[in-house]
Amino acid sequence: MFNGLEVVGKSDIVVEDGVIKGVGEAGGQFDVEVDARGMFVMPGMVDAHFHFGGSKGGDLVRGTLAEDSKVRLLRATTWASRIVEAGITTVRDCGEPNAIPLRQGVNEGWLKGPRIFAAGRPLSQTFGHGEFLHTVPVEWNEYFGFAEICDGREECIRGARRVLREGSDFIKIMATGGVLSQRDKPEWPQFTHEEISAIVHEAEKVGTYVAAHAHGDRGARVAVESGVKSIEHGSLLSEETLKLMAERGVVLVPTLSIQELIHKHGKQIGVNDWGLEKIGSVRENIPRVLATAKRLGITILTGTDLGFESGLEIDVGRNFMEPVLLVEVGGLTNLEALRAATSNIRKLGLNVGLIAQGQPADIVVIDGDPATHIRDLAKAKWVIKAGAVVKGS
Ligand SMILES: [Zn+2]
Repeated sequence: MFNGLEVVGKSDIVVEDGVIKGVGEAGGQFDVEVDARGMFVMPGMVDAHFHFGGSKGGDLVRGTLAEDSKVRLLRATTWASRIVEAGITTVRDCGEPNAIPLRQGVNEGWLKGPRIFAAGRPLSQTFGHGEFLHTVPVEWNEYFGFAEICDGREECIRGARRVLREGSDFIKIMATGGVLSQRDKPEWPQFTHEEISAIVHEAEKVGTYVAAHAHGDRGARVAVESGVKSIEHGSLLSEETLKLMAERGVVLVPTLSIQELIHKHGKQIGVNDWGLEKIGSVRENIPRVLATAKRLGITILTGTDLGFESGLEIDVGRNFMEPVLLVEVGGLTNLEALRAATSNIRKLGLNVGLIAQGQPADIVVIDGDPATHIRDLAKAKWVIKAGAVVKGS
């Protein structure tokens, strides 16, 4: 058993009313017994950066604008079941309106899926990463409702309050340009200290935090100095900014899955030309950032950044590829990657990722040994979420 922190040897786990009642030696009669002898038992995995977009293929413009949003939402319901059956029992959605109704479906029990912690619509400046296209009227992007566009302190306060009103669990902001948006560059800073501080203040007032999309160092620095709690991507971070993150306890979600997918298969899956052009620098630099982050003791989380179906090895329902890539590309040890995929999310206040008394019973039984062979994470035989068997027999 890997309890979320260490491999601790053989153990029984007793579950009652969705909660782990005991870990150790158990005797007596139980309603349901799962025989995991000879297998690897671990906490349900976490995808800390996902988008329940529901599109097919990597052309986000086509996927978002040329398909009925109701079809995308319906498709995303199938994602929810695929993801939980693969052993991912918690998803932190980093920006997608669909995640809000999906969360409700899962919480009310009529939709099979992981626990969903949702940002809802992200906040972006005008000419920012929240607009896929910068050649159409800005109102079109607003009409399609992906991001809340806000400029200046007052509009950022209003934007933050609007997305919180829509049901956001935390606030996602775009603090630099990105890869899949048309004309902004990953290294360009977006939003000012004043704007981000105002958003952080609104988040803290309701007991939550801000997560910042940031590739470039300047924008990431502004975000960290303004009080965000996580840097998403972080591909061009300097050692100075990483040191500041370590000091302030800011976590890093490096999202290797999307980078590998676009780098290797971008053209095939329809990624726009600008995305193919911008992926190189982002992807080349991230192993160096990860090595420094590790040395400085920064908490690293697994996040795929998937938001569309690819039909390939890295895909929705194969979100366990992120810990695999953290080992194979990012240079983490298997145990570090397993922690990144489980208990490290606790740093952001989510009470999951541990097998211990009193914890929610989210447990995966793997027919293999990912502590030795990380790719064995693909072999989930049983998945238990909140004490209920969602896969296995
Ligand atoms: Zn993302």
